[in-house]
Amino acid sequence: MNPPTTRFAPSPTGHLHLGHAYAALTAWRRAREAGGRFLLRIEDIDPARCRPEFAAAILEDLEWLGLDWDGPVRVQSQHLADYATVLDRLATRGLLYPCFCTRADIAHEVAASAAAPHGPDGPRYPGTCRLLSADQRAARLAAGHPHALRLDMVAALATLPGPLFVTEEGEPPIRCDPAPFGDVVLGRKDTLGSYHVCVTHDDAVQGITLVTRATDLRPATHIHRLLQALLHWPSPLYAHHGLLTDETGQRLAKRTHAASLRKLRAAGITAADVRARMAR
Ligand code: GLU
Repeated sequence: MNPPTTRFAPSPTGHLHLGHAYAALTAWRRAREAGGRFLLRIEDIDPARCRPEFAAAILEDLEWLGLDWDGPVRVQSQHLADYATVLDRLATRGLLYPCFCTRADIAHEVAASAAAPHGPDGPRYPGTCRLLSADQRAARLAAGHPHALRLDMVAALATLPGPLFVTEEGEPPIRCDPAPFGDVVLGRKDTLGSYHVCVTHDDAVQGITLVTRATDLRPATHIHRLLQALLHWPSPLYAHHGLLTDETGQRLAKRTHAASLRKLRAAGITAADVRARMAR
């Protein structure tokens, strides 16, 4: 097997904490131990939550940890036109539709329906805007109503010649089942692209062959594998890792009050201490 190309792909919505350090070290070690490549990607397509100063801090914190990366850092907000092209490719094949629903509309619709199906991410989008007529759609677009772009999941699956499989390292290939996610958003209302589109596009163009990331993203792999098939991109090997927990067993998520690497550093913790905590 060729040495892997791995990546660390944080979103600059805050400072890195130990959970990120673990994810970054895992990807870096897998590449370096095998003579492969380790790439860094800043996933900053969410204009409301991402900040350039956090992106700069990420680079600094990784350098402090002693990690080096190959080639330039890829910054997703500099590639929005590429994601628009991907959406166009899917739209031309009739696989996307505009969705004008607000969150409140969706919640209302779900509450009103007796048996609202649930997907792995919560209630599944009921498909309201899929049912709009061509005239209704055109009128709302012409009126400039804000809209997201959703994948028509049933139509997308119908284009596949057969079942899809996804490979998690050390396990036999698993049959991919994206249907329970329903009509996922592929183009957000506020920006071109979505997490699913940007991550799969970039993994493909950056030649990532081994995706290491936390296990909370494992379900999304079903959607990613479908996009890879629809867009004729290669499918990397996946290796999802456990989430780092604190002394009380609580997971160290970005949104909890986990200490950032900068706070630990200010408190006198060294990069060697952090790396030792993450030694396998
Ligand atoms: N940008 C994502 C995050 O910070 C990770 C994406 C991925 O590894 O697939 O949670």
